[in-house]
Amino acid sequence: MIAINDLHKSYHMGSNSLHVLKGINFEAKEGEMIAIMGSSGSGKSTFLNILGMLDEADLGSYTLDNVPIRNLNEKVAARYRNEFLGFIFQSFNLITYKSALDNVAMPLYYQGVKRSVRMEKAMHYLEKVGLANWASHLPSELSGGQKQRVAIARALASDPKVLLADEPTGALDTKTSYEVMELIQAINDEGKTILVVTHEDDIAHMCKRIVHLKDGKILDDKVVEQVRAKTPAHV
Ligand code: ADP
Ligand code: MG
Repeated sequence: MIAINDLHKSYHMGSNSLHVLKGINFEAKEGEMIAIMGSSGSGKSTFLNILGMLDEADLGSYTLDNVPIRNLNEKVAARYRNEFLGFIFQSFNLITYKSALDNVAMPLYYQGVKRSVRMEKAMHYLEKVGLANWASHLPSELSGGQKQRVAIARALASDPKVLLADEPTGALDTKTSYEVMELIQAINDEGKTILVVTHEDDIAHMCKRIVHLKDGKILDDKVVEQVRAKTPAHV
């Protein structure tokens, strides 16, 4: 599904440059659920943003579902991004003046899906994350966990090949984090390929494989026994 070969990325600020990714080799197969771990500043978001076509590498190759991702013009890149990838962010990134339903329908709007179909699909995914009764509510009327569920429904709306989550539980308390991970695991159980950036060990172990980034390189890449995110009674 994903193949990355000798990927490099530097940031340039005036005469300074920061070499953030220093030769990353990585593969992800369909149906995997992979945690990307590493301390703050280790390049996790940079890596995920390149995978998500929000940023481009300086060197190296990236193939997504057999399509080489390189030097695409902005229009083609935007189309691939919309079709292939679903994003989940720490801060949810919902549109504040739109309802939960309209937020979920957004990616379909950009795909030119007609309104009635958009609304039907958006409702389907809101139901899937348990928020059908909240469809007409604004993000400000929802709890953090509910907002992240709306964001997950939005990420699923265009049935992407890969879900990319950058610290999806970073703004949530433990109980809510586990509920969100339970949902993400259920989505993976249905076969969706998922990458989760986290710096929390318990969240990483809810994935099936853990990749450790350190100083711009992959330090460690191992398959783990997946811990199911049953919300513990004591939290
Ligand atoms: P992580 O997500 O692991 O915390 P990031 O990928 O966000 O790490 O950042 C890696 C390094 O690159 C950090 O030192 C950060 O300050 C730097 N960095 C990230 N984005 C930019 C940018 N757009 N311009 C300059 N430096 C950046
Ligand atoms: Mg980050």
